[in-house]
Amino acid sequence: MSVEDLLRYYPNKYIDRTRVYKVQELEEGMASVQVIGQLLYLYETGIGRRKRLEGVLDDGTGTIRLVWFGGIGHMKKVLQLKSYYVVFGKPSLFREEMTMSHPEISLYQGAEALASQSRLHPAYPMTEAMRNGGVTSALLEQLILSAFQHLRMEDVPDTLPKVLLHKYELMGLYPSLKQIHLPSDNDLLEQARHRLKFEELFYVQLEILDYAHKRTRSSAGLRFPLVGSVFHLFYREHLPFALTEAQKRVVREIWADMNSGLQMNRLLQGDVGSGKTLVALMSMLIAQGNGYQSCMMAPTEILAEQHYNTLMRFLEGMDIHVALLTGSVQGKRRTSILQEVSRGEVNILVGTHALLGDKVDFHQLGLAVIDEQHRFGVEQRASLWKKNSISPHILVMTATPIPRTLAMTVYGDLTVSVIDELPPGRKPVKTCHGYHETEKDYLQLVASEIQKGRQAYFVYPLIEESEKSDMLDLESGYQHLCEVFPQWRIGRLHGKMKDSEKNSIMEEFKAGKMDVLVSTTVIEVGVDVPNASVMVVMNANRFGLSQLHQLRGRVGRGADQSYCLLVTGYQLSETSRRRIEIMLESSDGFYIAEEDLKLRGPGVLDGTQQSGVFFDLKLSNVIRDGDLMAQARNAAMDILSQDPDKSLPSYAIVWDTLAKMRKNRIDLSNIS
Ligand code: ADP
Ligand code: MG
Repeated sequence: MSVEDLLRYYPNKYIDRTRVYKVQELEEGMASVQVIGQLLYLYETGIGRRKRLEGVLDDGTGTIRLVWFGGIGHMKKVLQLKSYYVVFGKPSLFREEMTMSHPEISLYQGAEALASQSRLHPAYPMTEAMRNGGVTSALLEQLILSAFQHLRMEDVPDTLPKVLLHKYELMGLYPSLKQIHLPSDNDLLEQARHRLKFEELFYVQLEILDYAHKRTRSSAGLRFPLVGSVFHLFYREHLPFALTEAQKRVVREIWADMNSGLQMNRLLQGDVGSGKTLVALMSMLIAQGNGYQSCMMAPTEILAEQHYNTLMRFLEGMDIHVALLTGSVQGKRRTSILQEVSRGEVNILVGTHALLGDKVDFHQLGLAVIDEQHRFGVEQRASLWKKNSISPHILVMTATPIPRTLAMTVYGDLTVSVIDELPPGRKPVKTCHGYHETEKDYLQLVASEIQKGRQAYFVYPLIEESEKSDMLDLESGYQHLCEVFPQWRIGRLHGKMKDSEKNSIMEEFKAGKMDVLVSTTVIEVGVDVPNASVMVVMNANRFGLSQLHQLRGRVGRGADQSYCLLVTGYQLSETSRRRIEIMLESSDGFYIAEEDLKLRGPGVLDGTQQSGVFFDLKLSNVIRDGDLMAQARNAAMDILSQDPDKSLPSYAIVWDTLAKMRKNRIDLSNIS
């Protein structure tokens, strides 16, 4: 272990020895505290393995019992009755007596000596191996103390350039390391932690951005200088409603990006129902106006088909060739579509993500829209278009709003556009919590909506498509509804069905030939049936927040009041209850996503190694430190834009540090 390793091994908490407590202040459950008093008694008691040494310490306000189960001989030798001692330990009540087990104890040597010890002491995270090797927190503290007796400021060069220290008012590295191990007070400790967190997040962001930067610099982009006549025609004569301001802004951002000369890699975020499909369509029209083809990919066949239908509806009466290519398109039809695509006759090709793997040979692909449900790793996205000489522009649409901090890491290499406004005239969905035990209450509401000619979804959790118990849930729920409401036309939909079967059921429901659709989460993302006004989620506690939000987004698509009923049993875990509460209190997808992240904790980031970026965050927490992450990201962007060739001497330290971190990462991955 080098000195540097030692300095970078941060304490995970601190022990406050700045204050002396009175015995009468002590309470069960306090953290470790120190007390000064006179040792009145000392005696051995118990027999065999229960032998122990006990003492009584008196500080004038009361007495505490001190207990040692080991090292008895040694303690007996060094402790002197009637002397004054400083003891440090965790108070607990034992047989109604305030007790400290195995306290640290040292002779009281007057106020001055005490003051020199009086500070925050570091406590280090201990591994099993360290414990077995006899390493203690106190030993590490000693090592650090002696290291700092020899280390000078110049031995520890800063890892952040001066400009950043100034701009973000950060403490230097040397004092930060000193303070984090040996804090003078809470204030300086906080400043030190702040600086070290910033450094951590800065290098994470620099790594992500540098990666993206390299790629865009190496991949020139197609230039789309025109908005084009198809766009204009569509905008003037076919757009069925006015765009929201947010949609207009985002279309402008996308066009500017596609005309920059660099490849676009953009993430389009927008809450459920914010009108992302239309934005995607208009971007594809721009591509067409510049002589290029586009493709649009959805996670499932149902959604691909729905996108296809939506586009066809929008483009009715226009001379634009849209084609649908999914797994169920086979034989001659498939061959002819593929031919038309390769001859450039298809302007827009819609399909599932499987298109990526297929041998689809475009004549001139200019824009790929990925409507994604699952995250695509950075590398996956990058490798998609190797077949083209110049990569097409890429627009990724997310169905689930992503909290800002996650967006900065998981999608850190993408530029982000946000549609933060819903089309006018939407009534928020009324959300209620119902109980399985009292189903009459919520079934009444469903019945009255159906009476009015509206439709309803009943969704059952299906975590794994093969899970039998869930199938039973869905099946018995279906049977039950059929019995209670024989007059309803009820359909069933689940993942075990063939795609063609699923599609035909969806079509029937859309056409109003069914009142109720009992289904699994197959319908979760993107399905659009404006006449459906009730979403009943059964076993709502088994769904995650983003799923619940997506499900709720399936209703409220028309102008009338819609409802979402979250049904659970009376018995609910703390987290499930909180999730339901969040759904009741908000319909804002971004708020819900942030709350979700808080509930789930930073562990959700574990999957992000796939992006090729290293997240070894020792101090910072992507949930709590969102603002700092944003600052660090700006700082990293500044540096990259000022020193794209990595040649400025004032930033040399940055690139050296980054290189060193990468090297360490490789070493680490070799070990594990
Ligand atoms: P999402 O962002 O969830 O994919 P969609 O693109 O499916 O949302 O849009 C939801 C609904 O809103 C669609 O029926 C769409 O036609 C409609 N829509 C989109 N933009 C507007 C707008 N500016 N004004 C009114 N309705 C709109
Ligand atoms: Mg959509």
